[in-house]
Amino acid sequence: MKKIILILAIFIGVSACKTNPFTGKKMLNAFPNSQIFPTAFAQYDQFLTENKTVENTADSRMITTVGQKIASAAERWLTANGYPGYLNDYKWEYNLVQDETVNAWCMPGGKIVFYTGILPICQGETGVAVVMGHEVAHALADHGAQRMTASYGQQIGAVVGNVALKDEKALGLFNQYYGVGSNVLGMLPFSRSHETEADKIGLQIMAIAGYNPDEAAELWKRMKANSGASSTPEFMSTHPSNDTRINNLTVWAPEAKAEAAKFGVTSFK
Ligand SMILES: [Zn+2]
Repeated sequence: MKKIILILAIFIGVSACKTNPFTGKKMLNAFPNSQIFPTAFAQYDQFLTENKTVENTADSRMITTVGQKIASAAERWLTANGYPGYLNDYKWEYNLVQDETVNAWCMPGGKIVFYTGILPICQGETGVAVVMGHEVAHALADHGAQRMTASYGQQIGAVVGNVALKDEKALGLFNQYYGVGSNVLGMLPFSRSHETEADKIGLQIMAIAGYNPDEAAELWKRMKANSGASSTPEFMSTHPSNDTRINNLTVWAPEAKAEAAKFGVTSFK
């Protein structure tokens, strides 16, 4: 009987395995979009009702502009690489929230929030594109779902496929990893390997969107300098910056420009 359960668990595990186009890696994801997106969308809407959004200002328009360019770049890349329609379930949305916390995030399905507190570190549109590209990359690579899958497997001692978020344990994990309502401060940090992936993917998307990837290393230098400031640098607690990250970004910037050239993008702002 045990053997049958084991075989079943492996079978389900394999069926929940798919190749991520952005990383080229086979990844285990027990939480498909159809399970995660409705919950993410509902929580995003709830967050917006509980927080003050900034509308019709130069800054809020900049967030939308950059977001649209990043989303469009991701779609172009996917189509060119044989994955048209990969983002069909996404419902992109970009909001600027009045809050001095240094933070920005993208929930599954393309639901993005920037806090006004991160804008001084971004220092303009290209810096916003660095952060936007990075956060969107986490979503595109399904990093959150992978973290949930790993934790869920640890908790119930098995590999499982297609877990419903109606499951209390699964919903608890969702809240832990994505935060709930106004409490995004509860978000757990990504692993170092997920951070590295998001840096690399984010750099390519921003370059295809026409933003200078050389700015990425500069932004993380500013983020690092800011982490010594007295205000709570929330972004830094989930995204620790270090010299390796900054070095990587410097090395990868020319590769990102080369990727952008394949899409006819050769000048960057
Ligand atoms: Zn990150």
